[in-house]
Amino acid sequence: MRLIIFGPQGAGKGTQSALISQKYGVPAISTGEIFRWAVTEGSDLGHEVASYMTEGRLVPDDLTIKVVSERLSAEDCAAGFLLDGFPRNLKQATALDELLAAKDVALNAALVLEVPHEVSLRRITGRLMCASCGAGYHLDAPPETDGVCDNCGGDVVRRGDDVSDATVRTRLEVYHAQTEPLKKYYEDKGILRIIDGMGTPDEVFARVATVV
Ligand code: AMP
Repeated sequence: MRLIIFGPQGAGKGTQSALISQKYGVPAISTGEIFRWAVTEGSDLGHEVASYMTEGRLVPDDLTIKVVSERLSAEDCAAGFLLDGFPRNLKQATALDELLAAKDVALNAALVLEVPHEVSLRRITGRLMCASCGAGYHLDAPPETDGVCDNCGGDVVRRGDDVSDATVRTRLEVYHAQTEPLKKYYEDKGILRIIDGMGTPDEVFARVATVV
């Protein structure tokens, strides 16, 4: 099973990726999460990507493609994977196809989660996450104890790049300008699957599971 999932910020990609990974036993690989960890750890990669993330711009393609290429070579990806947040533009999409072709495989499906613009904004501005394990929450669906992760007891905080309105706006603009055109790219390949992202995580996952 080799899947990608994309959609506007706040569409629920992270939540659905975790559910897909759990049910089908494939690793969910989020480039955003890889970059956020790198920034937290203060690694070389973290230093390179920090300013792009703070401003809501895309990290340069060559660097992103290298990170994904290395990650897909890991043993746990041999039986499949789900990429969340990659590819984000046409250059990354063709690079992914080439990477997979070199391994004699191809994507099975490109899932797109769609929600109306206002919903996407509302979801992003209320979004919370655990600083230790990355579990996602929302002001409307917080952890049981305020500020404490249900999974690991870590601190539940707002994501750095969700805090500034300007950054949120830039990320949505980048999505519409660069990522949304990928729908046509995957439609032409016959593997595009559009999924309505409205409803509870379980309701959306029922739709996702039907497609997968
Ligand atoms: P995300 O968690 O997917 O919303 O990603 C957070 C941030 O990480 C983005 O706003 C970009 O700065 C960076 N990022 C994540 N994935 C990519 C990608 N495929 N290409 C370039 N930048 C990315």
